[in-house]
Amino acid sequence: MTRRIGLFGGTFDPVHNGHLSIAHSFINSGYVDELWVLLTPYPPHKQSKQQTSYKTRLEMLEVAFQAMDKLRIQTIENELPKPSYSVQTIRYLKNEFPETDFYYCMGEDSLAQFNTWKFYDEIIAECELLVAQRPGISHHKAEQRILARTHFVEHQPLDISSSRIREQIGKEETVGDFIPTDVVKIIEKEQLYK
Ligand code: ATP
Repeated sequence: MTRRIGLFGGTFDPVHNGHLSIAHSFINSGYVDELWVLLTPYPPHKQSKQQTSYKTRLEMLEVAFQAMDKLRIQTIENELPKPSYSVQTIRYLKNEFPETDFYYCMGEDSLAQFNTWKFYDEIIAECELLVAQRPGISHHKAEQRILARTHFVEHQPLDISSSRIREQIGKEETVGDFIPTDVVKIIEKEQLYK
């Protein structure tokens, strides 16, 4: 039987409970047998921002997702040519795993600006999208041909973002409610976002 894999990419700087909850929703959606979390090294649309090292973001991802079944963390984008365009990753994986149906997974904020992604047409030609709702974001403006390749998954939205967490840590506010305890420990040990 053809395997169905969801691909969920991000910078995860840092990974937070919103990511954990969206990952659960993709896994429980019935669309995929497994979710592969792709840690992105140099996202084309976030080039200018200062980033935490790949190694440390990976360490945070691993502790955050360690207890989740049917989920695998993939560092493949670190080995492929940079910058990491999703279409390149998808084509590479389709070639490596021909007996697999891939779905590209994202939050609704990413869908709202999906038509600004490089090669987005090629992405929807390669695979369908799985999208989880995010508060305050409307997908109504997404183009019809993008929506025609999109499935929305049931999701209880959490209003959390990595940028807000970085900001709060910068202001010395507590963030323990928004990220797993083991991730907080790494942030403290590495003195991140100060
Ligand atoms: P930043 O605030 O730095 O832009 P982020 O919190 O959006 O970061 P990313 O690593 O850029 O996190 O996101 C990876 C994926 O997770 C994207 O598809 C994004 O839409 C999704 N996502 C992030 N936070 C949430 C959330 N609270 N609810 C639903 N989807 C989310």
